[in-house]
Amino acid sequence: MDIGKKRLLLINPANQYRKGYLLRRQSKQVPLALGILAALTPSDWSVKILDENFKAFRYREADLVGITAVTASVNRAYEIASVYRAKGTRVILGGIHASALPDEALQFVDSVVIGEAEGSWHQVLEDFSKGELKQRYQAPLADLKDIPPARHDLFHPGYLFASIQTSRGCPMDCDFCSVPHFNGNRYRLRDPEAVVEEIASVPNKMIYFVDDNIIGYSRPAEEHATAIFEGMIRRKLNKEWFAQTSLNIAEKPGILKLAARSGCRMLLLGIEAENNEALEDSNKKVNLRLGVENYQKAFRLIHRNGIVVLGAFIFGMDSDDLSALERRTRYIASSSVDVTQASVLTPLPGTRLFGRLQEAGRLLCHDFPLDWQHFHFSDVVFQPGRMTPGELAVSTDRAYQTICSNRFIRKKFIRTLWNTRSLRSAVWAWNSNLNYQSVGLEKASQWKY
Ligand code: SF4
Repeated sequence: MDIGKKRLLLINPANQYRKGYLLRRQSKQVPLALGILAALTPSDWSVKILDENFKAFRYREADLVGITAVTASVNRAYEIASVYRAKGTRVILGGIHASALPDEALQFVDSVVIGEAEGSWHQVLEDFSKGELKQRYQAPLADLKDIPPARHDLFHPGYLFASIQTSRGCPMDCDFCSVPHFNGNRYRLRDPEAVVEEIASVPNKMIYFVDDNIIGYSRPAEEHATAIFEGMIRRKLNKEWFAQTSLNIAEKPGILKLAARSGCRMLLLGIEAENNEALEDSNKKVNLRLGVENYQKAFRLIHRNGIVVLGAFIFGMDSDDLSALERRTRYIASSSVDVTQASVLTPLPGTRLFGRLQEAGRLLCHDFPLDWQHFHFSDVVFQPGRMTPGELAVSTDRAYQTICSNRFIRKKFIRTLWNTRSLRSAVWAWNSNLNYQSVGLEKASQWKY
């Protein structure tokens, strides 16, 4: 019963200019951070999650509003915040964008939680209850042992995948990435038993591990992943899952085998580029260490375990010229990568890349916060190093036309089936390619160069 309780409304805003991964149900992702904050909220509050991934925002009453946003959705977050502030309801904003630019955020909301919110959440609620809400909250990086499982019951029932987190942080230092800045450069690990318990508790057959690298880069991180996979096998959870990882997984055949046995269907690899110059531009050390000439061998090992390779590529590194991007597209088409995510290099606030481009006067967007809606990895928002913005846009568009065509997706299906010897994995690849096809078609329809 919620009578007499304070009402907390947690909101997940969606970019209104471009729907991207929201176009298909298969590629929508749970707003996990809101579910964790809901789990940390004391029982004298009633908590609801309003999720624009499924339904456009409509006003509903609340005593306190908490919003999370990434850069591409922050403008929408500010719009929604203004509705509540006009009615005198206090609004708190957290997430990666507000953490990088708290001064901007404070022009639109009452309070900003900087960094991981778990450590300051109780203080936020206590201060609000006393009428003493502060403008800024910042706590040290959370100890993951103190973090409860998310309130999965509050997420929209339409999500196909349940999101689960097993670790946070990344010791790598890629130029374009905001993870080390936001989550720190030290791996922090959840208790493997607690993770397995959370996986067992969700009704979804399919799981997305949101970690940046499910196996990490150290012996303890590998042992942690191993314990989770073994736990899933031991308890016969019978789930299917996908996760992000790095090419270092190709050096761990034992872990790959266990991952497959525990239900792994697809691994997203940050390939970024197929030449050393572009990898050096982005400081992608793990790929440089493996060597681009060994990529195919890595894909083969993953395939041998029946697992799909989802390769993430970036267009627009400083050393990229038109011919380099043509080669990248040809590489994507001819390699045994099963599913392709092709992104335009995007400088997110808080990254080294953003600072460098801003200092050099190379950002093309200036009307903030409105222009943040273009920072979704499909538009060109900066002056590239060796071509015009229009040329980068057209090159990326050509890559999309290749990887989004029905003919190409059919061809990939056959190759994935052949390489993985798994119809189920080939169907996963097929569906994922359709997700990227939707993103690519939307991109083409909005082309402005
Ligand atoms: S891109 Fe991946 S490997 Fe690089 S810093 Fe970010 S999370 Fe780490």
